[in-house]
Parts: sequence; structure tokens; C-alpha cells
Amino acid sequence: MSYERILIKGAYLMTQDEKLGDLVGDVLIADGTIQAIGRDLQDDRARVIDGSGSAVLPGFIDTHRHNWQGALRSLGPSWTYQEYRNAIQIGLGQYFEPEDVYIGNLAADLLSIDAGVTTVRDESHISNSSEHTDAAINAHWDSGIRAVFDHGWPSTEAEEWQFGSARTHPEDIRRVRAEVLADDTARVTLNAMLRGPELSTFEVAEHDIRLARELGLRISMHVGLGEWGAKQQAIRKLAEAGLLGSDMTFIHCCTSTDEELRMLADHGATASVASALEVFMPGLGQPATNRLLAAGVRPSLSVDTETIVSGDMFGVMRAALAYQQLVIAGAAGPMDRAPGLPTFGSADLISFATIEGARACGIDHRTGSLTPGKQADLIMIRLDHANLLPATDVAAAIVAGGHAGNVDTVLVGGRVLKEGGVLKGGETVFEQAAASRDRLFRAAGYPPQ
Ligand SMILES: [Zn+2]
Repeated sequence: MSYERILIKGAYLMTQDEKLGDLVGDVLIADGTIQAIGRDLQDDRARVIDGSGSAVLPGFIDTHRHNWQGALRSLGPSWTYQEYRNAIQIGLGQYFEPEDVYIGNLAADLLSIDAGVTTVRDESHISNSSEHTDAAINAHWDSGIRAVFDHGWPSTEAEEWQFGSARTHPEDIRRVRAEVLADDTARVTLNAMLRGPELSTFEVAEHDIRLARELGLRISMHVGLGEWGAKQQAIRKLAEAGLLGSDMTFIHCCTSTDEELRMLADHGATASVASALEVFMPGLGQPATNRLLAAGVRPSLSVDTETIVSGDMFGVMRAALAYQQLVIAGAAGPMDRAPGLPTFGSADLISFATIEGARACGIDHRTGSLTPGKQADLIMIRLDHANLLPATDVAAAIVAGGHAGNVDTVLVGGRVLKEGGVLKGGETVFEQAAASRDRLFRAAGYPPQ
């Protein structure tokens, strides 16, 4: 594959690289990687993109999204957790054909790219067959996004696979590792989405963790889900059994105790806060952002499910901030009453949505900051659009007012996927997504009468 040489000139660079910081300057991209960052860079062979009036930053990294639900957008913004489970995981999930998974994933990827997400960690609990899994992975190859594909469990017999499940992780993950995603340096890589001791028996959790580690895969786990999570204390169980490790990312942690969050930190594990989803959906608990910071963990951020919240990271950052302000006002949930919790600001949120996401996925040596040698995964946000003018504090402007329409240019591994505000490709995807949705509704008799 041949790569374009690109020189972005005169942009406000929010590098997320500790040594480089923020500066007004240029970025040279060649061979899919960032070659140089600095002022007054020259390159006769490169195509020049004018970055004046724009911010350039590493692309957003969404560390937890159920991409397969991409054709079921906004079905239930006011659903409770149980209503979501009934409608999607237990209801519609069993009717998905491989082509529905493909088109859902592709729709989710394209919307993500349009909104400046360059890496998504796809939490794929739609492993209804090998063909479903392969379709999910193929969509990531086709969309151009960087994807960490977290192989999960099926949505057939959904009740048997969660909340005390005695079924071990599907063995098909061995085939995927050996035959489909063996290369950990590729644009699409493999992780394991495990249920852990909160959603399966402890014996199953232990078996699954050993399986993932045998295959050399990092692990994600949903924990701290409502009252059930508070009772299970999955992180504590893992720590006590010697299974907690730096290869694990814990998703939500809403009702994980402060002590569990300290255990998470002590073992070098990472966290993903789905702040927008958590504030919208009763039943899970509230975002643990401030409690994680108190424990010494800088979290990553995630969208979770587009059936409830919008698939962009601007809304996720804003929701995290909104909830923090409720904590400060003393109006937060029961887990957040401790005085003196550390707070965060707009610049922190940008780092949670970029470099901390890369760390949580174990790919920070390849992406997550504008650092020479890393993959050219970056976005350009127009600061001269009416909704952001005048951008006095750039991070604050992006967090408070940014939206997908401000994202002018998106590169993944040096490939231009959006430029001049126009997404490349995918013209028929949203029509196909509507057709997939209609077919699923017919098959499932949805909505229930
Ligand atoms: Zn989730």
C-alpha cells in the first residue's frame, strides 16, 4: 500500500505528548506514521493541508462500544438498564444474521470516524456463530478505523450467558486468534471481552482469564453494574485470587468500592468510564471518574451503546464534566459523598479521550498522541466555526461546544478518511442499516405489542 505524504501547517497542536505539550506548528506524515512535529517544517514532496484556525490532536479513542448495535440507534434514550437488556441483549440480539452484524459495525465505525474517533474497542457480545464474529471483524477492515476487537459471548440464549453464568467463554476465540487476528501490529487486533466474576461463576471467570492469557490477549470486563455489582465485588475477588493484572480494563466500575478502585490502581489495571450512558440510564450507577482519580487511575472514556446515547466522544466528555459538577454541588449519588474528591478539567478530558484510551487498550506505543514514530491517527477540528468562536481556551471550547460537524479531517494510519468535513465512502451504509433494522424488527416482532 502506498501512503500519501502530508504536511499540516500552522495548526494549534494538542499533542498529548508530555515532552511536546501544546504548540502552534506543523505535522509531517509519511509511510502512515508521524515523521516530525515542529515549527516551519518543509517538505517539497508533501501535500500541504492548511491548519490555520484549527486544532490538530490525536484521534479520539473509544474504549468500549457495542458496535453491532449501530443500526439500532437511539431506540431508547430513556431506557433503564433492564429495559435495555430486555430490548437488545435478550430481545433483538438473537435475531442478528452475520450481515446485520456487519452493517451495524460498519455504521458505528463510520459515525465514529465522522466524529473524530480513530480507534474503537469493539465489545462484541454478538458471537452467535463464527460467521457473526468474522462479519464484525470484516466491517472494521472495510471502514478504515483502527479497531481493538474484543471477542465476547453470543446474544442467543442471552440469559444463560450473564449474571451467574456457568458457561465458559466460546472456544471460537482460539480460531480467531490463530486464523483471523494473529498479528498484534495490524490495524485490527484481538482482545477478550470476558464476563468475569460479576457475570459468570468464579470458576468460569478463572477459566476464561487463563484462556485469554494463554492466547496472549488483553482482557476487558464490565464491573460495578448497579446493586448487583456492589454485591459481587468482582475486582476484590480477582485481587484475592491473584488474577487481577495490568492486562485488564474494567468498564463502568459505577458501584465498585473505593477500596476495589485502589486495588485496580495497585495492579496497574485500567478503567473505561461510559459517562454519557451512565448518566442517562438508571440502574447502572453513576460515573466513577472522580473516585477513580482519587484511587490514582486516570480513566479512559467510552460510548457503550448507541441505542441510548450518541456515538461521539464530545457528548461523553461533556457528560463526565456535568456529573462532576453535580458531585461538587453535593447533588451526586451515594458513592460520591466523600469530601475532597479530586476534580478534572477540559484538558484532562481531552487526555482521557485520547492517550488514556490508548493506554487502556495497550496500544499507547502506537497511537494516542502526536509523537514522531507513532501511527498517524489524528484529527483536525475547525476552531473558526461559529459554534466555537472565539476559542480562547481550545480544550474548553472543544469540550463545551464541539461536535462532529467541527471535525474537518480524520486520518487513521496516515489514510485520509474524512477531509474538508466530508466523510469518504459509506454512501449506502445508512440505507443498508435501515434495511437491517427493519428486517430485525420483523423477525423479533419489535416493538412488542
Ligand atoms: Zn457495555
